[in-house]
Amino acid sequence: MTFDYDLIVIGAGSGGVRAARVAASHGAKVAIAEEFRVGGTCVIRGCVPKKLYVLASRFRDEFEDAAGFGWRARDISFDWPTLVAAKEKEISRLSGLYVETLANAGVELIRARATVAGPNDVRFSDGRTARARYLLVATGGAPVLAPHIPGIEFGISSNEIFDLPKFPQRLLIVGAGYIAVEFACVFARLGAQTHLAYRADLPLRGFDEDLRGRLADALKSAGVVHRPGALPTRVVKCAHGLEVEMSDGAPLTVDCLLIATGRRPLTQNLGLEAAGVALRENGAVAVDAHSRSNVESIYAVGDVTDRINLTPVAIREGQAFADTVFGAAPTSVDYDYTPSAVFTTPEIGTVGLTEAEAIARYGALDIYETQFRPMRATLSGRVERVYMKLVVDGESQRVVGAHIFGPEAGEMAQLIAIALRMGATKRDFDATMAVHPTMAEELVTLR
Ligand code: NDP
Repeated sequence: MTFDYDLIVIGAGSGGVRAARVAASHGAKVAIAEEFRVGGTCVIRGCVPKKLYVLASRFRDEFEDAAGFGWRARDISFDWPTLVAAKEKEISRLSGLYVETLANAGVELIRARATVAGPNDVRFSDGRTARARYLLVATGGAPVLAPHIPGIEFGISSNEIFDLPKFPQRLLIVGAGYIAVEFACVFARLGAQTHLAYRADLPLRGFDEDLRGRLADALKSAGVVHRPGALPTRVVKCAHGLEVEMSDGAPLTVDCLLIATGRRPLTQNLGLEAAGVALRENGAVAVDAHSRSNVESIYAVGDVTDRINLTPVAIREGQAFADTVFGAAPTSVDYDYTPSAVFTTPEIGTVGLTEAEAIARYGALDIYETQFRPMRATLSGRVERVYMKLVVDGESQRVVGAHIFGPEAGEMAQLIAIALRMGATKRDFDATMAVHPTMAEELVTLR
């Protein structure tokens, strides 16, 4: 068989771009296909614009807190179009950098939709076809609009929320995962009357229970109206917005309905089944530890494989794939102690096992926790408490989980993850000198 390329990557998001670039650096002839904008979910409509909006929303607290420190900030107002335009400029710059990086690495960028036409064959939407020794599926995921109720199509997903032409004064968010709670914090602080409706009794299922209740309280004090156990049953568009009937019998009228009920792997109409690629029940490409599917020449990385759906994980998987296949250095990703942050205000930073998971795995545990008023709140007067918890295996004394709710918790989780991966015990934490005065010092003084 003769090949046009050594590798064709489908999807120029975080995982695909890393794989393409590294494969090219190992000497492979690489093409990458992208039907939308280069950068993928993270850069274009995920992590990056989300964090910019989170930062925008936090100025509200800054202005309020400043008064306690002697500042007088008058005539404060927020302009949505200014934020949207500034965000657009920044993600265009980042997307441009990705394009430049690919070009510098010698990767050919094909701006078209690609479908798999066989174990080595790809068909592009511009009519071209190409044959490659290996194919890498890195198409990511897409929002799921649930529940299936009349009028759900009037709702939008996180894909659209960034670019709303008009700021939504009244917003209903459905779901209580990462996306729902982050946007609830953002829009409540930017001034929207925000409602959060979800089917559980607390947000963020799967997170440590001590974080979930605290987050619910923080959302309420930011003005978010909670509707646990309530979901929309019907949505009707009317002259003054969207009328939403709710399962708890209390309807509401809003300008915008954001559906944040999860994401699914983007494998529909990609031609994978025809090429013989096995998919899991939820549509994810089934892969082994080296990201290889059941078809020898076809690999997949990132959210399309539904392992841990986070940008840094997709990047690691892309790197490991390229090193394994083109760098003669078989590498698999180590997912242990993958830290993550939820960019609510305050933030959640977490690494390792929740208390419930640790009990199931180790049995006897030692739990260390603290809550305190951050220094800034002493003068600002804000009612806010930081919470920290270490989950320690009772027998080995190894710290197997750390859960933080407070300002910059994401930054702390990143650093604690190094210690946890290295097998740090509670004694190692205790022996580490504190940095004073910081919030993180509490982690080394827990008794
Ligand atoms: P999540 O899986 O985190 O949450 C989905 C939410 O939707 C849950 O509250 C779930 O409820 C609810 N839900 C699911 N199906 C239904 C249904 N049929 N009816 C009503 N409610 C439903 O998804 P997100 O959309 O928030 O985020 C998607 C992924 O994106 C995350 O898993 C994460 O990997 C990634 N992400 C990461 C971020 C970060 O690292 N900071 C930020 C944003 C996204 P229940 O809990 O009851 O199942």
